Amino acid sequence: MPELPEVQTIVNDLNAADLVGHTILRAGVYWPRTIANQSPQAFCRQLEGQTINAIGRRAKLILFELTDGWLLAVHLRMTGRFELGAAAQSPQKHMHVQMELDDGRALQYFDTRKFGRFTLVADPRSMLESFGPEPLSAAFTAKVLARQLMGRHRQIKPLLLDQSVIAGLGNIYVDEALWAARIHPERSANHLESDEIKALHKAIRQVLKEGLRHNGTTLGHGQSNFYSLNQSRGRNEHHLKVFRRTGQPCPECGRPIVRIIVGQRSTHVCRHCQR
Ligand SMILES: [Zn+2]
Repeated sequence: MPELPEVQTIVNDLNAADLVGHTILRAGVYWPRTIANQSPQAFCRQLEGQTINAIGRRAKLILFELTDGWLLAVHLRMTGRFELGAAAQSPQKHMHVQMELDDGRALQYFDTRKFGRFTLVADPRSMLESFGPEPLSAAFTAKVLARQLMGRHRQIKPLLLDQSVIAGLGNIYVDEALWAARIHPERSANHLESDEIKALHKAIRQVLKEGLRHNGTTLGHGQSNFYSLNQSRGRNEHHLKVFRRTGQPCPECGRPIVRIIVGQRSTHVCRHCQR
């Protein structure tokens, strides 16, 4: 599933593709459940004629800011991805939404597993207020992280995956951050020392920035991988220290990385470095 660096890479690519300022002339929906909050007919009717004023991100959502404060939020979930090209006369395989622009191009949404969702709303405040702090914002300090973890008895890994605690983290970057901070993923959040929280804060920002610098993590070649706009791949998989490196040596101590299950999620850890 795309996490903060992957979603931000897509947003950067959409912005570089010069979509801002263009108007959506026609919309088509070919898998009705892709539209989360209304019928496909209502969605198309409300979207047609809207201009894309900005493209941004909150947590793992891609946000298209439209005319008069309307917002189209896209959650890619497992296999959602965008393509930009000439409008298709009939839907291609796995293409569930098409938005035709005023310059002849079309933004098309593909999703093999069909878990991705589009939400179009006139007032986005209630949808966006449930998320925790953005970890790459200047406002996210070690103090803010400490406050988010305070009094929480849960294990640190599932807590960091909770989007209301911190926005944008998923399985890859949580495993990487906990390794970098030398914290075992099963530790109880309220037992972390203040030095460990400082290290975790630094590690979270570091692994996300590294992921972003390499345009995200694309693992393997299957359909279920992350692809940015028009199927471009990330390069961060070559920079991961523990994630999906079971049996390979820990870059710090040389002992093998092990795979365990924490909160029902596959988790990669060095038992020597992470206590
Ligand atoms: Zn180690």
